Amino acid sequence: MSYQALYRVWRPQRFDEVIGQTLITQTLKNAVKTKQISHAYLFAGPRGTGKTSMAKIFAKAVNCQHQVDGEPCNECETCKAITKGTMNDVIEIDAASNNGVEEIRDIRDKVKYAPTEAEYKVYIIDEVHMLSTGAFNALLKTLEEPPANVIFILATTEPHKIPATIISRTQRFDFKQIQAKDSLSRMTYILKEKGLDYDDEALKVIAKASEGGMRDALSILDQVISFGDDKVTLDNALLVTGAVRKQLLVTYLTQVTHQETQKALMTVQQILDEGKDPERFTEDLVNLTRDLLLYQQSPELVTQIEMDQVDSDFKQLATEIKPQQLYDIIDDLNDIQQQMRFTTHEDVYLEVLTVRLAGHQKQPNQTTGASQVDHSVIDRLESEVSNLKKTLAELQKAPATGATPKRPAVVKTMPKPKRTQVNLSKVYPILGAATRQDLSALQDVWSDLMNILSIPQRSIMGVSKPVAASPDGAIIAFDYAFLQQRANADQELNDALENGLDRLTHKVPKLVFVPTDQWPQIRKTYLEQHQVASGEDDGTTPPDDQSGDEGNKSETEPVVDKAKELFGDDVIDVKSD
Ligand SMILES: [Zn+2]
Repeated sequence: MSYQALYRVWRPQRFDEVIGQTLITQTLKNAVKTKQISHAYLFAGPRGTGKTSMAKIFAKAVNCQHQVDGEPCNECETCKAITKGTMNDVIEIDAASNNGVEEIRDIRDKVKYAPTEAEYKVYIIDEVHMLSTGAFNALLKTLEEPPANVIFILATTEPHKIPATIISRTQRFDFKQIQAKDSLSRMTYILKEKGLDYDDEALKVIAKASEGGMRDALSILDQVISFGDDKVTLDNALLVTGAVRKQLLVTYLTQVTHQETQKALMTVQQILDEGKDPERFTEDLVNLTRDLLLYQQSPELVTQIEMDQVDSDFKQLATEIKPQQLYDIIDDLNDIQQQMRFTTHEDVYLEVLTVRLAGHQKQPNQTTGASQVDHSVIDRLESEVSNLKKTLAELQKAPATGATPKRPAVVKTMPKPKRTQVNLSKVYPILGAATRQDLSALQDVWSDLMNILSIPQRSIMGVSKPVAASPDGAIIAFDYAFLQQRANADQELNDALENGLDRLTHKVPKLVFVPTDQWPQIRKTYLEQHQVASGEDDGTTPPDDQSGDEGNKSETEPVVDKAKELFGDDVIDVKSD
């Protein structure tokens, strides 16, 4: 016996079995009961919301000999034939594959003949927006002079692509996305009927992941069941959906909020060890952060969206974390997500993120120019609150319009930090004595050096690179200025680096940290000021290729070329966005 997908087996056969479209089922049942049938209906809405199921139930209900209270009996020959798809008078057309004028002309020719077996001939045209212009014109002609006892049901996910002339001749129904709690109760029902065991949490994960589509929810459920054990487990649901365990996310945010960098890094490691995708992790974090912001404004709304999955740790975090911190976290997440798109070392960026997030939480007391900062914070909060109020209002209106609850868009207005100061008096002596040999020697041991460091130290140094070295000094560039600052301030880290270099090279060079984005300018300025020395080993790596030497080009270029010849182009890898 071949396996049948859940969404096929459990396709609703009565109006009452259709999930989450109460308004539409009521209206259609009434139409059947009172025999007030229109010639054409438009079923518009996202995929998997029950449009074609509803169309077939309607086709049965209008033709059933024993319909009760507007519902088809599903027992008579007519009902059975329609369910099986063998009823000649109920014609399903997939416009995605039959978009030609000919097919619609065919309808026009045949529509004239009265139904042979049933009372009503019903044409169900799925994905009707795919019809060609010619086909729409042919359809319009039919709708303008509809024969008796013919019903057209046009289903579409993209109603805006349908000509207004067609829409105006239909009775329109907008199908809503299925609420998570509705698909949850449907899944629960099906599993109970099948006698399968399940974790509540697993179903919640599936309901959230399917984003309003019942068909998707059941497809995911299918996969989770096929993972075996005849039980729907949370682990398997997380595996199939790729979602990160919410509890872990809350733990992680709590840890960075408490500046527990080490613990937070372990949590990241645990998440990565479970095979989670780093990008998915940051996405889930953004969602959690927004849920926290929303919860601070309107707890009952989050409780509704999360299907009562709001636990005490979440509440605790929502109470102690300030909105400002949440905005900062979202800013950081946005930045990191941008960076991660261009790297194959996403896990390193998660470590960077962790150090950065934990670092933020120290800032508030050190802020200078407090009054100005306060104003910008207040402004932003006010605009956020008004945005959230709007979102709330929309959400409360949602059932009527068929719109789905959207997470509030969080406005990004955080001012960027100022450029970091680099102590040139420490940089220039190293540049003055730099050689390619020293740099190569340092580059050779760099990854070994990183392996000697502790995990938190490595996460600070993870995206750093040596860019110049002399016998007794080296310049290390950091992709992130905030990490460069951290490295400067971290005496333990500096000791560890010195000890490590001593072990690996038997030398203890003085290390100077610079932000990568300032390195090209530092180097250029140095070369301009020390042109006399250009014949010597001036010992620097070139800036990235796009840095563009405006002005003094002809004078400095030989120097740059000399440096390039010495150090090559691949030494620094400046992120260009
Ligand atoms: Zn029947």
